[in-house]
Amino acid sequence: MSKKISHSKALVELLHGDQESGMSRRDAMKLMGLTGGAAMMMGAPVSAEAGPSSDKKVKVLVVGAGAGGIMALARLHSALPNAEFTIIAPNETHLYQPGQVFIAAGLYTHDDVVGHNKNFIPSDVNWIKDEVKTFDPDNNKVITRADKEVSYDYMVVATGIVYHYDWIKGLTEADIGTNGISSVYLNNLEEGTTKGAEVTWIWFDELKEAARGGKKPTAIYTQPNTPIKCGGAPQKILYLSADHLRKENLGANFIFATNGGKLFGLPTIDASLHEVQKRYDEITNKFKHNLVAMDVKNKVATFEERYEIKGEYDEDLKEYDMITKKRMVDIKYDFIHVVPPMGPPQAMVDSPLGWQKGTAKGWLEVDQKTLQHRRYPNVFGIGDVCGIPKGKTGGSARHHGPILTGNLVSQINGEPLKEVFDGYTVCPLKTQYGKIVMAEFNYEGLAPTMPFLDPATPRWFWWAFDLYMLKPMYWHLMLKGWF
Ligand SMILES: Cc1cc2nc3c(=O)[nH]c(=O)nc-3n(C[C@H](O)[C@H](O)[C@H](O)COP(=O)(O)OP(=O)(O)OC[C@H]3O[C@@H](n4cnc5c(N)ncnc54)[C@H](O)[C@@H]3O)c2cc1C
Repeated sequence: MSKKISHSKALVELLHGDQESGMSRRDAMKLMGLTGGAAMMMGAPVSAEAGPSSDKKVKVLVVGAGAGGIMALARLHSALPNAEFTIIAPNETHLYQPGQVFIAAGLYTHDDVVGHNKNFIPSDVNWIKDEVKTFDPDNNKVITRADKEVSYDYMVVATGIVYHYDWIKGLTEADIGTNGISSVYLNNLEEGTTKGAEVTWIWFDELKEAARGGKKPTAIYTQPNTPIKCGGAPQKILYLSADHLRKENLGANFIFATNGGKLFGLPTIDASLHEVQKRYDEITNKFKHNLVAMDVKNKVATFEERYEIKGEYDEDLKEYDMITKKRMVDIKYDFIHVVPPMGPPQAMVDSPLGWQKGTAKGWLEVDQKTLQHRRYPNVFGIGDVCGIPKGKTGGSARHHGPILTGNLVSQINGEPLKEVFDGYTVCPLKTQYGKIVMAEFNYEGLAPTMPFLDPATPRWFWWAFDLYMLKPMYWHLMLKGWF
């Protein structure tokens, strides 16, 4: 039942992210309206309450309790009143991972991003605090690290992504925070720690100190050749740290070294980011550069660079064939922000559930529109683990939620799957302190929630929304499956 609270008290609770406030959905929505948040619900998909339901007695297993797993559980729990639910997830703590960038920028602390899964997992759900070691979809069961067998009728896989710092020769996780190395990503979901973000804020200041007296330290920012969660984070760190120096008229030799061939996949956002770069002291973009090794002591980063040379002249096409070549390039640095290569968890890679070949090999083989497994129809996916072309963000997981719920319920009811995921992804690109380019897109291209605002323009409005509103919306609405 809705607990009556005064707006001022509730607003304070909301903004401070008090997850135990007992705030009702109505109060939370009302406050979003009061603060302008309701207008910004960013392409909000259908609410679970309006979706289909089933009274069948089925066993539903959710694997993983991050953003996707908790959102899926909340929605399915209300859509399937007679189902028996189990969630397998080791982590009692829950990190609001987008907030790690604000920790790195000195605006949040660790306490701002950490919550507790007990506040979101309903008491009648069987929570096994362990990890899945083996997926056995042919027998509708999984085996945990403690060798417990858990069977299911329907399963939702929400195991997220893992980091592979070890794929960069010469680098270990222990090096982050030493010798001029930082990495905003480094966290431990099981322990709820955000070391990488915390050391990146110290790194911002070290870089600033090194830039005093007209010196120009070299600072490299990398982006790897694998899919990563929040594809904008490497550039967010570049622009925020450059702005941190700019505030004191300091500069550096900034190098953005990315495996990609452009700053952003969509031309208007790409052009906007090139404009943003002009604001800062020299930024050199090194495209098609993939970090493969580091000499941590001597501060040398080795990249594999792809470049093209002219091959044979093609008389039919009246042009030269272009041949891609690779070479190793060493760059000496004073500071480096490393974004690790990322991949699906090992249990997924070892299982029959992943794509068996191609660039998505090992990622969960779900249909990119229905989120249903392509070979095991009683298995669905949500969040970063999904092997689909777009969307390794919390914003995508939020949009997956109602699609997955509607389709899983239809599957249980023996009806055709009707809900379609359009590929929605959101990337709040922090271009400076106080401004964000809110890049929202889907499989078709740009998909701004507010089409009357040019999505390529950096705006304070989006900064304020991200810094002050998204976190409470995450804890109070998204994780509860209310939005
Ligand atoms: C620095 C940073 C900045 C970001 N910025 C943004 C942003 O601005 N906007 C945005 O929308 N998103 C952002 N994201 C991305 C967002 O946090 C993720 O996309 C989102 O958390 C994905 O949810 P998920 O459930 O798929 O994975 P996660 O939330 O990572 O959760 C995965 C869960 O699965 C569990 N698990 C793993 N393996 C197993 C197993 N074998 N058995 C059982 N459990 C398992 C893990 O313990 C974890 O609890 C950012 C992320 C980072 C790190």
